[in-house]
Amino acid sequence: MKLLTGPFQEAIYIIDTIERAGHQAYFVGGCVRDSLLNRTIGDVDITTSAKPHEIQSIFNEVIPVGIEHGTVIVRHNQVSYEVTTFRTEGDYSDHRHPDSVSFMDKIDEDLARRDFTINALAMDKTGVLVDLFDGQEDLKKGLIRTVGNGYERFTEDPLRILRAVRFSSQLGFEIEKHTREAITATKSSIEGLAVERITVELEKLFAGTYVKSGLEYINELGIEQHLPVLKNVPILSRITHTIQPLETIAEVICLIHHVDSEAGIQQMVKEWKCSNQVLRKAKTLCHAIEYYQVSGLDNWLAYQLLPGYHDAFARVIEVLSPGELNKNELISLKDNLAITSKKELAINGNDIIDLFPTVQKGPWIQYLLVKLEKLVVDGVIHNEKSILKDWIKWNPPEVK
Ligand code: ATP
Ligand code: MG
Repeated sequence: MKLLTGPFQEAIYIIDTIERAGHQAYFVGGCVRDSLLNRTIGDVDITTSAKPHEIQSIFNEVIPVGIEHGTVIVRHNQVSYEVTTFRTEGDYSDHRHPDSVSFMDKIDEDLARRDFTINALAMDKTGVLVDLFDGQEDLKKGLIRTVGNGYERFTEDPLRILRAVRFSSQLGFEIEKHTREAITATKSSIEGLAVERITVELEKLFAGTYVKSGLEYINELGIEQHLPVLKNVPILSRITHTIQPLETIAEVICLIHHVDSEAGIQQMVKEWKCSNQVLRKAKTLCHAIEYYQVSGLDNWLAYQLLPGYHDAFARVIEVLSPGELNKNELISLKDNLAITSKKELAINGNDIIDLFPTVQKGPWIQYLLVKLEKLVVDGVIHNEKSILKDWIKWNPPEVK
């Protein structure tokens, strides 16, 4: 039995309310797994015997996100809960014997449809576990094992192959022998998956604490040759020994580009079907890394890295050149910058025009501002209007 705390406490209301309406309801999947591992719980998911329309009539705030799959979202105290009806074959079609299926059979079938034993755990509102596939045992042993026959489960949904590797990267678990064999036999079916689903799994895999373990499985099980981008740029064996968790796919793209310059940023973004935002982020990071490789760590680099990019930059450098970057130095450079954006420059375009009233306006004003910006950032001149004006007088712009 597990003591229910935090997010579970909050969610007991949902289970209670469903039960009072005469149905069964359990916490299920990742939230149960993570709480048993004492990991931070993500979303609290609930599985229930109540049908979506019944849930809609029980609660005030219900969002019908996937009624055809039996899923709705129930909102309670500003938190969203995915509530999914027990999924069993014939669940909605066999109306002839609705009461002949006992409750245990129902949760039984629902859990049997789940991917891995560690994800096939349910828990009632008092913390009593339903563990029909020795999920707790596998949690203790640190094993990822399919529920039932691996060949069938992976053929049914090849995304599970990537989920297995992704969980090994997040949890540091081993993939159980038969499950591994089943992956080797079915891995080519990954190619039939929607790319977006593959990318989501790969992003989680690269962000996992035990990413090295995940990448070793990708190598060892020969999965790389079936993955977008990586089948054309098989570089994993070159990064596995230094890999560290990378939080975003933009970082991954940047890393691959720097390991193999043949791998174009735009091309990878396209192949992985990432957004334009990812493209922008990957390009910015890559520029910063190129600058760093030529000029090293300096004020201008710290200044150019927008807020939120410093950590990403440090992570990619750490994989490319382990131990080389002094992160404290980067932080201190950033903290001691004279200005943090162009807006803070003590002089603007109008001031410059006033200094040269007879000169025709043009792009030279912008060039001059950028020059001043860099001088101030580099600590060559102080960010004071009079000083900047003096500097300009002694270094008049070339106007073409
Ligand atoms: P996380 O949310 O931390 O990534 P999770 O285990 O909660 O991990 P979800 O994708 O949120 O993963 O799925 C919730 C649960 O649904 C899983 O724990 C598993 O029981 C089941 N599940 C999800 N995807 C599949 C799948 N492809 N095949 C079978 N069961 C699945
Ligand atoms: Mg989840």
